[in-house]
Amino acid sequence: MTNFVVGLDLGATKVEACVLDDERNILQRQRVPARAEKGAAAVIEVIVELVAGIGKGRALSAIGIGTPGSYLASQDRIYGAPNSVAYEAPGFITSLAAALGKPLLVENDANCLALGEYFSGLHLQHRNVLAVIMGTGFGGGMILDGHLYRGALGMAAEIGHMSIDYRGRRCGCGKLGCAEAYLSGTSITARYSERSGQAADPGEIHRRALAGEPLASEILNETMELLGVTLGNLITLLDLDAIVLGGGVSNLPIWYHELAPILARQVFGYPRHVPIYQARLGDSAGVVGAAYLALRHLGVMEF
Ligand SMILES: [Zn+2]
Repeated sequence: MTNFVVGLDLGATKVEACVLDDERNILQRQRVPARAEKGAAAVIEVIVELVAGIGKGRALSAIGIGTPGSYLASQDRIYGAPNSVAYEAPGFITSLAAALGKPLLVENDANCLALGEYFSGLHLQHRNVLAVIMGTGFGGGMILDGHLYRGALGMAAEIGHMSIDYRGRRCGCGKLGCAEAYLSGTSITARYSERSGQAADPGEIHRRALAGEPLASEILNETMELLGVTLGNLITLLDLDAIVLGGGVSNLPIWYHELAPILARQVFGYPRHVPIYQARLGDSAGVVGAAYLALRHLGVMEF
């Protein structure tokens, strides 16, 4: 008998769902507004309705969900989701699980993206992969020796909040010099606008650099060096064999051409080539990775 599972991706403003069978085929996907501004109870209502609609006519065995921040089961609370305070309400996950009436597996959204991308083909060649989200924020998830690495509390791979300059820019989290304060799309835009007095998103900065604007090139080169240092440190620490970039900023082609020589300088030890891939699943990596949590729960996937 075929098992069906649902993956959920809980974003700050929207929630997405997909249905997978136990051979990892994606049967359906849907995205709706999360209504997070109305509080936790409203979000739970949205999710229950979404799952009922998308799962109609199929017996669902389990549900996986990717959330911002990290879920600390001992306190039944999500931490580290400052853009979505409704999700940080104590008891949110337990109430959601009760409302859904199915086993609910919870994981950080960047970890879900790492799972989705890893099993989209990278797993055939690689065992140690860092997935990086370059979007509104800068985050990561790690597969080490073929396993999702969560750390002691599920907070592993919060790479955006490693400081790369102890006297550097103030991050949204309050610390100085966090990688996110330089490398998120928001920060790239802010760094450009502080020096130019003009607003431009990373795509526009890239177009201006191609058109010969020196400041735009300077910002992108600086970004490249900082990304190279950040990723180089992680390769030195973990001996990774591949990196995959996702999120809106990862669509710029420059990372796939110009990062390699910087990484080669930054990494200690044997000269080696660590390939940088662009995310294959794009926007849907997180929701698919969340469904894999449910498939692991059923014993049909291992990671
Ligand atoms: Zn920070």
